[in-house]
Amino acid sequence: MERFEDRTVVITGGNKGIGYALAERFVSEGARVVIASVDADVKEAAARLGGSDRARGVHCDVTDKSQVEALYTLACDAFGKVDISVQNAGIITIARVEDLTEAEWDATLAVNTKGVFLCCQEAVRRMRAQGSGGRLINTASGQARDGFIYTPHYAASKFGVMGLTQSLAKEVALDGITVNAICPGIIQTDMWDYNDRVWGKMLGDYGPGELMQAWVQNIPMKRAGRGSDVAGLVAFLASDDAAYITGQTINVDGGLIMS
Ligand code: NDP
Repeated sequence: MERFEDRTVVITGGNKGIGYALAERFVSEGARVVIASVDADVKEAAARLGGSDRARGVHCDVTDKSQVEALYTLACDAFGKVDISVQNAGIITIARVEDLTEAEWDATLAVNTKGVFLCCQEAVRRMRAQGSGGRLINTASGQARDGFIYTPHYAASKFGVMGLTQSLAKEVALDGITVNAICPGIIQTDMWDYNDRVWGKMLGDYGPGELMQAWVQNIPMKRAGRGSDVAGLVAFLASDDAAYITGQTINVDGGLIMS
C-alpha cells in the first residue's frame, strides 16, 4: 500500500515551483491532490499530474475567504474529504525601505500570512468534522529565521507564519491534527529568478544567476535546493511517521541556517 493512498491533499500555489513539486510527490505516493492558484494554468498543471480521479486544479485567491471555502468544498465534493493541507502560496517583492509601498506591505501580508490562516481555518473546520485527524503544513522561509535586506514585509509575513503555526498546533492537538511549518532556503523557482534579478541589481552589479551562485557558496552543501528536496520534508510531515511532531518549524536549506 502506498503511503498516501486514500488521502486527499490540498496544496495552494500548486501550479508551479515548490507547490507543483509537492503535488508530484504526493501523487507519486498514491494521494489525490487539489492544487490551487490564481493563474489560469492551474487546470493544465492538474492535468499533467494525472486524470480527474487523481488531481484537480482550482482557481483560488487565498486572500479571499469565500474562494478559500469554495476550494475546500470542491476538494470534499471531488474526493470525499481533506486529510492534508499545504499552505504554500506566497509572493515576494524587494525594495529599499523608503520605496516599499503600503500596497506591497498589505499584499504580502495578505497572501503569505492571512492566506495561510484562512486555509488552515477552513481545513481545520473540515478535519474536525471528519474526526480522523489531519496534517497542516505551512510554508514559511529562511526569512522566518533571519530577515534578509530589503524585504521587511516578506520577513514579517513569514515570521507570522511561524507564530500562527505554533498557536494553531496547541489548539488542535487533541483533534489529532498536527500543524508544522517549513523553511526552504534557496530553491530554484520563478520566485528565486525574481530575487536573483532584483536583489542582484541592488546588492552589486550581479548578472543573471550570479547572485545565486554567490549565495550558494554560503550553503554548506554548496548547491541550491530543488522542489524535490522540499517535497521530501513535506511528505514526511504529512505521513504517519510524523504523528508526534507538531508546532515545529523545520529548515530545508542544505544547512544555510542552523537555528
Ligand atoms: P513561485 O513564485 O514559483 O510560486 C508561487 C505560487 O504561489 C504560485 O503558484 C502562485 O500562483 C501562488 N500564489 C501567489 N499568490 C497567490 C494567491 N493570492 N492565491 C493563490 N495562490 C497564489 O514561488 P515558489 O515555488 O518559490 O514559492 C512557494 C512558497 O515557498 C512561497 O510561500 C515562498 O514564499 C516560499 N519560499 C520559496 C523560496 C525559494 O527559494 N523559492 C525560499 C523560501 C520560501 P500563480 O502562479 O497563479 O501566481
